[in-house]
Formats: sequence, C-alpha cells, structure tokens
Amino acid sequence: MIPRRRRRPDPEPMLRWEGKDAVVSYGGLDFKQHKDSTNTLSVTCTSCSAKKGGLSGAELKAFYVEHYNLHVPPPAPVDQLLEVDFDRLVADQRTLGRDELAVIRLVTDGLLAGKPVYGELDVAADSRSFKREGFDEGRDQLIYDAADLLRRLRAGALS
Ligand SMILES: [Zn+2]
Repeated sequence: MIPRRRRRPDPEPMLRWEGKDAVVSYGGLDFKQHKDSTNTLSVTCTSCSAKKGGLSGAELKAFYVEHYNLHVPPPAPVDQLLEVDFDRLVADQRTLGRDELAVIRLVTDGLLAGKPVYGELDVAADSRSFKREGFDEGRDQLIYDAADLLRRLRAGALS
C-alpha cells in the first residue's frame, strides 16, 4: 500500500530584529540577513551556517525552502500515524526535554484517570461524540477559568 503523504506546510517568512541583525524565521528555522558595504544582501542559515549572497525575492525564498527541507523532517505519512511503533515512541520521548515530558505526563494522567470510568480508549467502539465531549469540557474550562478570575479579583490578587 502506498502511504498517504500529508501535505508539507508552506510557512510564511517572518522578519524580526535582533539588535541590528534582521532575522527571518521560516518554518521554525532562523536565517540571519546581512547587507555589506555594497548593499548586497547575504543570508545565513543558523542551523548549518550555510551562507549565500546576492539573493533576492524568489531566490531568497528558495534558499529558505532548501534549508527547511534539509533540516525539518517531513510529516509522517497518515498510515504511520495510525499505527503505534512503541520503539519509536520510546526513542522519540528520550529526545524530549523535562517540560515536554511533563506535558506528556499530564496527558497520560488524563488517560489513566478516564480508564476506570470509560474503560480502555477504543475510538471504534466508543459511542461518545468526541466533538461533543470536547465542547462540553471546553465550556467547563471557561467556567472554571472565569470563576478563578473572579476569586482572584475579589481577593485583590490581580489589579
Ligand atoms: Zn541550513
């Protein structure tokens, strides 16, 4: 079976300034831009230090795309998302930072808390409307956030 490929995103270049340096962010990568004394623009990929001068317009975008394709892995085919490769899951988690693992801990805690109530998650057999459940939970979160805000305002904790 030919794996269904997900579309690769087409990020928008975003310019920002870091002191005197113009930095273009493209798809999570940073490219430093520099103009020399002859006003020629050169661009440096901060991921691999590749540098190219005299680029403009479409050539500049092509340089971003070239390094985006070089440094950012393509999205996994949909079929890979549907299967759980436990070795890869464990290997991927070993690359995560402390806070990233803490986020997974919180999500895992939610799954474990639901198990005695709903049984093991089985999306095919589960008759709940996940869209509806999500809406209800989102609405409840808004209520709790507003109640917490009200409590803090009354306590003078926020000004
Ligand atoms: Zn690069």
